[in-house]
Amino acid sequence: MPHIDTKCVQAGWNPGDGEPRVLPIYQSTTFKYTDPQKMADLFDFNASGHFYTRLSNPTVAAVEEKIAALEGGIGAMLTSSGQAATTAAILTICQAGDHVVSSSAVYGGTFNLLEVTLRKLGIETTFVAPDSTAEQLQAAIRPNTKLVFGETLSNPALDVLDIETFAKVAHANRLPLMIDNTFPTPINCRPLEFGADIVIHSTSKYLDGHAMSLGGVIVDGGSFDWAASGKHSCMTEPDESYHGLVYVEKFGKAAYISKARAQIMRDMGGMMSPMNAFLLNVGLETLHLRMPRHVENARKVAAFLQNHPKVAWVEYPELPENKYYQLAKKYMPKGTCGVVSFGVKGGRAAAADFMSHVELAAVVTHVADARTCLLHPASTTHRQLSDQQLADCGVSPDLIRLSVGIEYADDIIADLDKALAQV
Ligand SMILES: *Cc1c(COP(=O)(O)O)cnc(C)c1O
Repeated sequence: MPHIDTKCVQAGWNPGDGEPRVLPIYQSTTFKYTDPQKMADLFDFNASGHFYTRLSNPTVAAVEEKIAALEGGIGAMLTSSGQAATTAAILTICQAGDHVVSSSAVYGGTFNLLEVTLRKLGIETTFVAPDSTAEQLQAAIRPNTKLVFGETLSNPALDVLDIETFAKVAHANRLPLMIDNTFPTPINCRPLEFGADIVIHSTSKYLDGHAMSLGGVIVDGGSFDWAASGKHSCMTEPDESYHGLVYVEKFGKAAYISKARAQIMRDMGGMMSPMNAFLLNVGLETLHLRMPRHVENARKVAAFLQNHPKVAWVEYPELPENKYYQLAKKYMPKGTCGVVSFGVKGGRAAAADFMSHVELAAVVTHVADARTCLLHPASTTHRQLSDQQLADCGVSPDLIRLSVGIEYADDIIADLDKALAQV
């Protein structure tokens, strides 16, 4: 098997003689067949091929294959955004009356999805601390729990999830573990290797890497035995909306990702467009080069901030005094990511003042791309959350989320230094 760096460059698209070297953009909603039986076979999953881009498209499929290869999964489905991925991933195995156990250290949008929107649809969530013990996790699980959820490296608090503990408890209860691996990317962590069953990403972040295209992905590890679990009747009983098809029988190990596409994508939509898949693929071709540079620059920036008299605190899991240092070393030995969070002395007001003085670093509602950027979550992405909810997500009112880019490190540091001097 080729190294992951080679997969970044080449996986997913293997042109034959005379075909384009570069993954083409199949900008077509639909695909032509002369024999209606051929299309019927596609609808019945008795043949492979494309017929409508909401369900599959050759450009999108090539990038799905690449990301599945990077994470070590058996299949993947791209979606129009990270939020669409999380929603589809959960709805594939949860319905009204079901229950989810989630780490509280998750992306703000994920927290709202679970806490508010899915609750309105009858899916309840119990949030647990990311560093819960096995006993604490066990106590949160109910007879109707269908899924355990967490984020490898949480956005924006940078809490590191003990994936193995979460996987152990999930599996002891015959439940799958779903992990949002957006921040480390498969270059720095592959949760499937630590026992996770399903991995999701916002591809809008490092995977695209250039802030060009919104997207998400669900990767199926193929490791969870839905039939043996006995807890997921939606996988093991006939789907009446698919003339009685039983997902585990028809698709075997790929039951989960097949259901995500055949049912949830069919009914709710949210497919990635071929153009965005093409752009995502261009980003992926350099993921293995960009991630080490993000890490190298973030280490230098974290060290600089830590020694600055106007900085109140710095959180970066690679700093030895960080609460998550050991877990970070275990799960992300090559480094975590380019995101560093810190507080400026003087709290919320000083944070806002500092933000107004940066020049090279841009104030944007984004994170994890080539250009250094920063954000004050309490007044932007997380402003719908109460102070208590903020604290549960590990976000303090003065937290600045700095996404260190791949520019020259000394230039980034000089910009921060100048802005701090003006606070
Ligand atoms: C951004 C993000 C999301 C949501 O992704 P979108 O592409 O913005 O919909 C989900 N999880 C994490 C960790 C994120 O950083």
